[in-house]
Amino acid sequence: MRPSVRPEVQRRCAVIGAGVLGASVAARLAGPGMHVVLLDQDQPGRATSRWSFAWLNSNDKGPRLYHELNHAGIRAWAELATDLDGPAWYRPAGNVELATDDTARAELAARVRRLTEWGYPAHLVDAAEASRLEPSLRTQEPAARNAAAAWFPGEGYLLTEPLIARLVRYATSRGAQLLTGEQGRVVGFDTDPIRVRTAAGTVLEADEVVCCAGRWVPELAALAGAASPVPAAGADSAMPWVSAAPVPLENWAEPGATAPGFVVRVGPVDGIGPKRVVHAPEIYLRPHSGGLVHLEAPDAAADLHTPEPELRRWAGELLRRARRTVRGLDHATVADYQVCVRPMPADGQSIVGRLSGAEWLYIAVTHSGVTLAAHLSRLIAAELTAGTPAAELAPYRPNRFQRSPGA
Ligand SMILES: Cc1cc2nc3c(=O)[nH]c(=O)nc-3n(C[C@H](O)[C@H](O)[C@H](O)COP(=O)(O)OP(=O)(O)OC[C@H]3O[C@@H](n4cnc5c(N)ncnc54)[C@H](O)[C@@H]3O)c2cc1C
Repeated sequence: MRPSVRPEVQRRCAVIGAGVLGASVAARLAGPGMHVVLLDQDQPGRATSRWSFAWLNSNDKGPRLYHELNHAGIRAWAELATDLDGPAWYRPAGNVELATDDTARAELAARVRRLTEWGYPAHLVDAAEASRLEPSLRTQEPAARNAAAAWFPGEGYLLTEPLIARLVRYATSRGAQLLTGEQGRVVGFDTDPIRVRTAAGTVLEADEVVCCAGRWVPELAALAGAASPVPAAGADSAMPWVSAAPVPLENWAEPGATAPGFVVRVGPVDGIGPKRVVHAPEIYLRPHSGGLVHLEAPDAAADLHTPEPELRRWAGELLRRARRTVRGLDHATVADYQVCVRPMPADGQSIVGRLSGAEWLYIAVTHSGVTLAAHLSRLIAAELTAGTPAAELAPYRPNRFQRSPGA
């Protein structure tokens, strides 16, 4: 990871949030020209990044520019892996997807065609080839025998906990300071000069403040005094699922909110277990560290209010579905489960840049943050050090949601 700052000028940058995005930004920025303080209210990587499916992909991302941004994200991790102990966290294992009904087959074929036209590695294969690629698949089961399948060899997944530990270690080896717990919990800002205030009473002066606080970015933007968004003229005014904070994220706190997702980790795996990312109609899975397998399901509806017995019921159901889909889980039990929250921007695409009304605050919040963090952090660090806006980030500026009240 090359330093991207001019060593003759020592500037100070506070990075708020040590998830995959903030840790990546800190690692890119820290160095002789930039003193970074990385703040987190918890230990690094304990929020959404810890529980993410962490599938590296640009499999169904549109429009084309956003697809390209995600594709660049996949390539950026491959580059970083060579410098940052990749074997500990980088798994370019590919992804096998199965489709069993006519609608899903047609959608899969159309998607593979579109991705191929876009220069993205994607191939339609038959069930036999799918089980050669992923030998744990139970493609002899009646439901899967006639499945259509696709193979995405450029995809994979990351183990985010060892990754974030290495990003933070790299940043601190280049002079960054890590503040966690109450010392790292940001509770306020001053603007003249720019200061960050923490719950422990620490006051940090900064030349730049980058907020990578995941789903909490709207709260911090409000603390910074940014204007609430007013829907642009002609925009659909009925968006009850969008929080009314300065940075519009899909609502995650209310019962029934769709930003939360339910994840389950099961194990141990015996014999042959899955080696790749697998998307089957009723279950999505991938290997996880410690001999576990990570599971998600498209219909596992849970939010932060779902009662424990219901979560346990879903966890058991996902394990049963995984057993029907792959070998190696006959003796597995549920090791862990969690409702975790997607920091989902209102239009589904990243929000990156300076906030209108509080330009000193640079925010970065996104879904697909695992896929995107290596590339986004490189663009963000280049903007902050060179001061030149990155053309690639132009579609993702926060002001696309804002216009001045009364306009
Ligand atoms: C179920 C699920 C599946 C997903 N699957 C994928 C996938 O397959 N591929 C993919 O690319 N992405 C996926 N995502 C999305 C991805 O996980 C997120 O986009 C990414 O983890 C966000 O990282 P982050 O660093 O922005 O946020 P987080 O990991 O949430 O980190 C934010 C940090 O900010 C800290 N913080 C908050 N407030 C404060 C404060 N006031 N002071 C100090 N610190 C603060 C928190 O403690 C936290 O550590 C998935 C998400 C979910 C929920």
